[in-house]
Amino acid sequence: MSIVKGYAVAAANQPLAPWTFERREVGPKDVRIEILYCGICHSDIHQARDEWGGSSFPMVPGHEIVGRVSKVGSQVTRFKTGDLAGVGCMVDSCRSCSPCQSHLEQFCEKGAHFTYNGTEKDGVTVTQGGYSSAIVVNEDFTLKVPANLDPAGAAPLLCAGITTYSPLKHWKVGPGQKVGIVGLGGLGHMGVKIAAALGADVTVFSTSAAKEKDARRLGARNFVVTTNPEALQALAGQFHFILNTVSAPQDLNQFLALLRIDGTMTLVGAPPKGTEVSAFSLIFGRRSLAGSLIGGIAETQEMLDFCGKHGITSDVEVIAPGQINEAYERTLRSDVRYRFVIDCSRF
Ligand code: NAP
Ligand code: ZN
Ligand code: ZN
Repeated sequence: MSIVKGYAVAAANQPLAPWTFERREVGPKDVRIEILYCGICHSDIHQARDEWGGSSFPMVPGHEIVGRVSKVGSQVTRFKTGDLAGVGCMVDSCRSCSPCQSHLEQFCEKGAHFTYNGTEKDGVTVTQGGYSSAIVVNEDFTLKVPANLDPAGAAPLLCAGITTYSPLKHWKVGPGQKVGIVGLGGLGHMGVKIAAALGADVTVFSTSAAKEKDARRLGARNFVVTTNPEALQALAGQFHFILNTVSAPQDLNQFLALLRIDGTMTLVGAPPKGTEVSAFSLIFGRRSLAGSLIGGIAETQEMLDFCGKHGITSDVEVIAPGQINEAYERTLRSDVRYRFVIDCSRF
């Protein structure tokens, strides 16, 4: 065991505060990573506030982790000391069920072992995340981070990057397609960058008129303020694919109306409360409403390599650990450009 420093939330209604806790010794297949940066995902806020239910406390959130390998186990083959490495939302899975065998560990039938607010493979030890100085993870769930990427900007790729890359690839987004990204936050801005890199004609749908200039700089050709119903109606029936990243309940029907025949809107945003979908929004135009959860480990590596090749990182605001609570409040106000990343060398 070794003692590491981090920030934890002690109960759902508490702010995050400094906390020390134990990491396991490096086992034969483990790597130990000294964490450089960890992104703040809106899922951290949902779970720290127990908005989805079932949260366990104390909780060290954080699943957008980039750091340097400081120790490797005797059987580790893919990493060596000094490598830039990443950890995303999962630290293990059963590895033998059909989804695991199909590189879809996020849908493991026994339940993926999530990086925090879950359990280690023993099913008992509670996992603790990346708002901390170091983590020990099995090498098979550790990612290689391309050396040409800025480590702070690369951290959000481990969740926001893969969560947008995976559906964009699954629904075969590419040149000649009109793609909508709803919500320009952490996920949304990565969705814009990746969809544009895939060659799509991207439109951002946002409640924040002030984000237009950024949206265009990030790669969008069009920007629509969603509080203006007329602007939405003018685009009815035009989109091949819409990726909806919004973290709060919203009217999904107004976006379904924007899809062409056989178009799909995929939800990645995970608001705690549901919203009503009219059957007519789907019947007319044979439209589909779908969902997507992060991505498998192999696809996460594919996404990191894609971002390395295209020079894609997240637009980040680096903060000290003492600013985490303020960053949560600003994220909730959609006042983030476009991801807060904690400087974990300062824990
Ligand atoms: P974020 O940075 O807070 O971005 C969410 C964006 O949604 C905001 O920037 C805002 O964009 C828009 N928004 C917020 N409240 C809204 C409201 N009341 N009405 C309309 N639009 C609103 O959050 P994030 O980290 O990108 O995460 C987004 C959601 O995805 C969260 O629910 C998170 O839990 C979920 N998530 C899911 C997965 C998955 O695997 N499916 C993975 C990671 C995160 P504008 O200012 O442009 O309107
Ligand atoms: Zn996340
Ligand atoms: Zn499995």
